[in-house]
Amino acid sequence: MSIVTATKAIELLNSEKIVALPTETVYGLAGQVNSNKAIESIFITKKRPSFDPLIVHAANIDQAKTCVSEWNPVLQILAEEFWPGPLTLIAPKGPHISDTITAGLNTVGVRCPDHKVTLHILKTLSAPIAAPSANIFSRTSPTSAEHVEKEFSGMVPVVDGGSCHVGLESTICRVENWDGNNYSCQLQILRPGAVLSSDIKKTLSNKGWSTEFVSADIQITAPGQLKVHYRPAIPLVLVKTLSLSDEKVLQKTSEKLNVKNAAWLQLNDHPALAARRLYSQLRELGQGSATVIICRWSPQWTSELWQSIDDRLSRAAHLII
Ligand code: AMP
Ligand code: MG
Repeated sequence: MSIVTATKAIELLNSEKIVALPTETVYGLAGQVNSNKAIESIFITKKRPSFDPLIVHAANIDQAKTCVSEWNPVLQILAEEFWPGPLTLIAPKGPHISDTITAGLNTVGVRCPDHKVTLHILKTLSAPIAAPSANIFSRTSPTSAEHVEKEFSGMVPVVDGGSCHVGLESTICRVENWDGNNYSCQLQILRPGAVLSSDIKKTLSNKGWSTEFVSADIQITAPGQLKVHYRPAIPLVLVKTLSLSDEKVLQKTSEKLNVKNAAWLQLNDHPALAARRLYSQLRELGQGSATVIICRWSPQWTSELWQSIDDRLSRAAHLII
């Protein structure tokens, strides 16, 4: 068993080792930001390419500020409102954050996770941690300690903090411009998540700020936002053409994939529950005898959280029909 206590995790992190930790989004593979050895180990263990930056997790706003060289009023409002919570904020990186963590970018992504055990660990450590999702690169993120154990065949110590209640990776938001005289700002959502752009806009509006969302040049600002990501063990087909009968779906799928045994992924109609269960459903279906997973999209799934789920499913899918 690779399950460890929070006390053991603190000891391991303090001796430059890596540990998988629970958060409200997904389990993270954590190493202290001031340990090059731990950071390298994260990349090696995950088989993560060096161009994909890591998100830094801090105990609170003060600790987050130690990672950045600039902190503006917009970031302050958003951190106060949404932390601890699933919102990563991008800010110019501070000198203590290595280029390995940021993949050479001059910015760093920081957030404060909403999980009792991990917050306790963070408060006890002397430095924040970098913690990408605890899975092999491009595969489905883990939402339970058991997923992490399976993913790394028990080779990575993991703190069991139960199932992640959000289930999707954090929303990533970047402040493109801000004007303190006119109380106006331009923001980019680099990755949609459970904190919605409408929530962000409302929060800023309540403080007198007007917000414009601009579309992100993902290539430059978020090199890790790959088209192929979150992939289950067997191919996933996302069905968006609503008029296709099940037979037609299977026929179209068989032109490209092995449909000997298709498993149909049924998402919960409530988006928060669908998000929470998404990755564990993908894992469960990928472990059985099925050769392909098929998920039918519903025309009713239009709300912003559904768009975040769509983002993950579209990247995880081998085929969209
Ligand atoms: P995760 O795999 O959930 O840890 O998320 C890491 C992702 O956060 C990366 O793949 C990037 O897309 C994004 N990210 C991290 N740091 C930055 C940054 N400084 N600027 C833009 N995106 C970032
Ligand atoms: Mg990831």
